[in-house]
Amino acid sequence: MCARSLAAVPASASTPADSGQELARVVGVNYAEVDGRGTVTVSLGGRGAASWRSFALKDPPRLVVDIVGAVLPSRPEPLAVADGIIDKVRIAQFSSTVVRLVVDLCQESSCTVGQPEEDPRQIVVTFPKRVTGVEFREVDGRAEAVIRGSGKLGYKTSVLIEPPRIVVDLADAVLVGNPPPMPVSHAIARQIRASQHSPDTVRVVVDLVKETTYSVFTSSDRPGEVVVDFGHRILGADFATSLKSTRVSVKSTGLPPVKITRLTDPHRIVMDFDDSVLDSPDSTIEVGDGTVDRIRLAQFGPMTVRVVVDMPYYVGHTELPRGPGPCGTWDETAVEITRSPLYQKTIAVDPGHGGTDPGAIGSTGLQEKAVTLDIAKRLAAMLEEAGAKAVLTRTDDVSVFLPERVRIAADARADAFVSVHANAGRTDEPAGTETLFCSNVPMSSRLAQCVQASLVKETGRLDRGTRERPDLYVIREATMPSCLVEVLFMSNLTEELLLIDPAFREKAARGIANGIWAYFEWRLEASASADGGGARAGPAKAGNAAGPGNDSADGSGASCADTAPGDVIEAQHGPGADTGGEGGTEGDTGGGNGPGT
Ligand SMILES: [Zn+2]
Repeated sequence: MCARSLAAVPASASTPADSGQELARVVGVNYAEVDGRGTVTVSLGGRGAASWRSFALKDPPRLVVDIVGAVLPSRPEPLAVADGIIDKVRIAQFSSTVVRLVVDLCQESSCTVGQPEEDPRQIVVTFPKRVTGVEFREVDGRAEAVIRGSGKLGYKTSVLIEPPRIVVDLADAVLVGNPPPMPVSHAIARQIRASQHSPDTVRVVVDLVKETTYSVFTSSDRPGEVVVDFGHRILGADFATSLKSTRVSVKSTGLPPVKITRLTDPHRIVMDFDDSVLDSPDSTIEVGDGTVDRIRLAQFGPMTVRVVVDMPYYVGHTELPRGPGPCGTWDETAVEITRSPLYQKTIAVDPGHGGTDPGAIGSTGLQEKAVTLDIAKRLAAMLEEAGAKAVLTRTDDVSVFLPERVRIAADARADAFVSVHANAGRTDEPAGTETLFCSNVPMSSRLAQCVQASLVKETGRLDRGTRERPDLYVIREATMPSCLVEVLFMSNLTEELLLIDPAFREKAARGIANGIWAYFEWRLEASASADGGGARAGPAKAGNAAGPGNDSADGSGASCADTAPGDVIEAQHGPGADTGGEGGTEGDTGGGNGPGT
């Protein structure tokens, strides 16, 4: 048997006891908070069956429960409660067969009176949960409105516009006190207020500065609280371009959880900020500095802000330590995106020999033309990956005349020309890597040094250095910086076996690509320092010392000292070679230091 008695509702009652029956005894009255509800329990003893009736009175507000068919053997002191709804509980013998329970209230409130089926020897008065306060605050850059109450409050939220506001209705709850609206000084909210919307519903309104996304949660970590989470604010993004990288930073209040991933097709870096709302004047920041195309910001999920960095290519990035921004008013999450000096460069890649011209043939039968084509294709792919345009002078096992190779590079307006070969000696002894150039184009020696150094570093093979070879057609006639790489010796069995190995070919391609990278990086630095009015100077180091740190004018004085003259017969074979034609061996006089004459 159970009935609800509202403050404004007339009295209700259970079945009255018949007179003449044995009376029940009231043996106890107590107060407890059960699941956030103030609960008054009257315990009955004796064999008599009591019933009850209840009604509310005003001025002052109080609830009366008459227990009919009961006696109170001793009169207890009033029970002080003061839980926000109940002030105190009194009980007395009202008439010979009626015991009266009076609950003095701090304010009008609904309640429930009943005898639990599982224990009819109790009369239980249950009051609603209480909303005790509201607050808007920001902790570590994360903003929230907090509704505090007793027990786990049920809630329903809605958004209203004009003016923008969030409404949280808390059912089966009573607002304790009558707190005035609280002004808030925050970018998101301007006021928070609570009221008793209906007898058993408390309404909390967060008046917003502008529409925003939010989430509402309760958590066992924060008992009695309903949290309207506005998360961290993502305030925008910025970038800084330097010679080697572009730094992209995202400004936020505090440091929300972030997940950074790289995606391809198209190239982009995605930064997902959880527990965040976008509060940025910009949704797209155009960059276009050759490393980053643009930065895009969007509210991706209810509490997830996605920042996308669009890139024309991808060669690498670093996540920087997170922390306060430069002026300390916001925090920063930044990535450093590596700039490719190869971006928008065209590289002619020339696989030596081909078709009827096999080039050198090793003792296992390996043909130079196959090695050069495979390495060149790998190289071209790597260059493309780094943002360059790679133009192969041949992509199949076909004969291509030497002038045609040069013409292909010229037609493509290539910024560099790299011919890939494998070497051959008169005996099986010579070994190692060398790179040949012709000083007709001044930067060629620098290109050769860079390629030689990077290739040797990558493969770990003997460094034979760079050499001027004005007799080799393609590097003499090329109209752009050019070099001819002799990866290893076909005539040396150890090296031939390496040249067969796809893993080594990949390494060789990587080494050459790194060298081309280093060359263009040096060009970039040189032009940047020229723009800055201060030319950088430094001695050219011989042989393998080429690289971005070596910034002599063109390095043309560098040469290789460790090549014994006369042990190499590499030359440009094939149709159209004007240096001796098919099988020409004029290269065997080209050894040694210094520019050829
Ligand atoms: Zn060759």
